Amino acid sequence: MAKITNLIVIKSPFYRIPFYYLCSMIDVVLKKGKEKAALQRHPWIFSGAIDKVKGTPVNGEVVKAYAADQTFLAYGYYNNQSRVAIRLLEWEEDQIINKEWYHQKIKNAIAARAHVLNHQDTDTCRLVFSEADYLPGLIVDKYADFLSLQILSAGMENAKAEIIEILREELNPLGIFDKSDANARTHENLEVSQGLLWGENPPEFVEVKENGVRYQINIADGQKSGFYCDQRDNREILAAYTKGKNVLDCFSYSGGFTLNSLKVGAAHVTSVDSSALALETLSHNLGLNGFDTAQQTSIQSDVNKQLRIFKEEGRKFDIIVLDPPKYAPSRSALDRAARAYKDLNRLGMLLLESGGLLATYSCSGAVDLETFKQIIAWAALDAGKEVQIIKQFHQPEDHPVRISFPEGEYLKGLLVRVL
Ligand code: SAH
Repeated sequence: MAKITNLIVIKSPFYRIPFYYLCSMIDVVLKKGKEKAALQRHPWIFSGAIDKVKGTPVNGEVVKAYAADQTFLAYGYYNNQSRVAIRLLEWEEDQIINKEWYHQKIKNAIAARAHVLNHQDTDTCRLVFSEADYLPGLIVDKYADFLSLQILSAGMENAKAEIIEILREELNPLGIFDKSDANARTHENLEVSQGLLWGENPPEFVEVKENGVRYQINIADGQKSGFYCDQRDNREILAAYTKGKNVLDCFSYSGGFTLNSLKVGAAHVTSVDSSALALETLSHNLGLNGFDTAQQTSIQSDVNKQLRIFKEEGRKFDIIVLDPPKYAPSRSALDRAARAYKDLNRLGMLLLESGGLLATYSCSGAVDLETFKQIIAWAALDAGKEVQIIKQFHQPEDHPVRISFPEGEYLKGLLVRVL
């Protein structure tokens, strides 16, 4: 197990990184039998799988992981504050995790998005999706000429300066904004971080287009990194059913499903969201696209409450979209989340005209497609309805699912006809 010498430190592009990062690559040995997942290229090693740490790595430091029989497994970021003690990066022992390495991985990720950006009248997408792009804890979203960054692991935090340089070299953006305010950072013992990292501050609203629909994005104050680009394909797929229809878009945010429906000629869209900022942005977006405001109504309300009000009023819709926030942040929340999804979908089914369509989504990774189908079956039973699945929805290609990392699959949906 060769040590990296001082000579490499002098030549390294990582000259700003403290000396100890490079002069002593620390070995971590797993308990017997715990190497299987890493051998199958799963990127997480849990703290309970570790037998020995030969030294005292600082959090975020790159270490070498070995099986109990001393077989090299992979390089990864170490963090003793996290349940995922090592986030694996690289399975080839002869690779060096330096700026070139990050550059290659980022370049590959950007190249893989060319299809999204070239072919769909779209200038916003996720350029880097963490483990799925072999960059655990790095998320980069493109909003026209601005980039929004989320750094969610201590290891990636250490490489932040290099990552900014690489993104500048590759994309020449107007500005790079830090939106690392996700809960995930607390698991890595990192403080929330937000603000301009490089270049110009984005204006309050950055204009982007997605499948030919124009949106204003508030990068600093918007939810997630500013926009839910993971619903790009599903908005377009659903829109194809909405011509001449009376649509209810629940959890509308800035109007993804609303605007796509109006674009193809929906008769009317009612958009419900609890966030005033989301609905204000939706209203800007209607104007931006030149849509007739008489064909759209926004209601700022809790969706569960609003659906019950519609029921009392005897309102019915042809198509209902249910795109709630993540109800199950972890497996332990699954039962509670399943009840919440079931109740929401039951209410949705009761508000549909006979033969109407329900487009229902879950972005909880802990709820897999089979579980989600089961929940919809319970909702149908409770509502006294018969339903047919006519389509399944998935996350789009800029949120790829690495086959060795099924946890990266989180967004699923069903289009069901309610009879
Ligand atoms: N469909 C949207 C994304 C939805 S994200 C799109 O295409 O862009 C989830 C949205 O649910 C957020 O806008 C959030 O403000 C809203 N939300 C969360 N809880 C809510 C509740 N109980 N009632 C209404 N809206 C809620």
